[in-house]
Amino acid sequence: MQTFSTIDSMRTWCRQQSLEQRTIGLVPTMGALHDGHLFLVEAAKQRCDHCVTSIFVNPTQFAAHEDLDLYPRPLDEDLAKLERAGVEAVFLPSAEEMYPQQEGQTATTVQPSSVALPLEGVHRPEHFVGVATVVLKLFQAAPSDFAFFGRKDFQQLCVIEHMVRDLNLPTRIVPCEIVREPDGLAMSSRNRYLSEGERERALCLSRSLNKVEHAFREGERDTKRLESILAAHLSDCDSVDYAVVVDRESLLPMPQVMQNAVALIAARIGSTRLIDNRELQVD
Ligand code: AMP
Repeated sequence: MQTFSTIDSMRTWCRQQSLEQRTIGLVPTMGALHDGHLFLVEAAKQRCDHCVTSIFVNPTQFAAHEDLDLYPRPLDEDLAKLERAGVEAVFLPSAEEMYPQQEGQTATTVQPSSVALPLEGVHRPEHFVGVATVVLKLFQAAPSDFAFFGRKDFQQLCVIEHMVRDLNLPTRIVPCEIVREPDGLAMSSRNRYLSEGERERALCLSRSLNKVEHAFREGERDTKRLESILAAHLSDCDSVDYAVVVDRESLLPMPQVMQNAVALIAARIGSTRLIDNRELQVD
């Protein structure tokens, strides 16, 4: 497994693979890797000749009060996991490499589509500008045929799909299913912040999504009633940013579920903010 810390060296390697007719699958991550990330790696390996994984804790997607400094960075463990998973190349840029100082200037950023505005956009206003910008920069640094993203970050996936469509990017996005712990908790690098008691309470997110999915399967289509089922099962959370059922494409509210929808939750357990979601498919 090769590691690259400069954009030039990473891009040269990718270009060489393309010249040799090998397809590349990119898996962008912020490290602290778990089986959710490794599932994306596996999907990339199945679909492409080579898998490139990036590890970069992107400062521009964190607000000043968020957990950038605390964010776990177990680099040696991460590299060992990627080596075992058979990844060919890892991109490990520094913040200076990705964001060179521009004296007295602000840098160019990506303005995401309106799908970035509700939900996370309300609670983390600059987050998706940071995400879209860094993903575009990663696509430029590691030009790939496919890029793999988890449905765990559902709104993020929508933002990236819209960016690829709207800016005519050549990389094809492959959405991957949410990987969960055996008891249902969606895997997340932030789960390691949870104490034992908080870990137990965190199960209410996936449980409430199970309940709403069950009600939906039984024929409930009234959004308010579906959302009250979600809320009723989130009392173990310390606070809830949102627990909603919205249109699958626009992420906007709708009174009745007439087309595909998604239930999305963002909530705090102790000081840890967790997100989870469940897609609701109309037959
Ligand atoms: P992160 O390191 O949290 O930025 O995540 C990197 C990628 O892994 C994103 O595309 C996430 O959606 C994806 N991911 C994170 N957790 C999971 C999970 N539990 N299942 C599937 N994909 C995930």
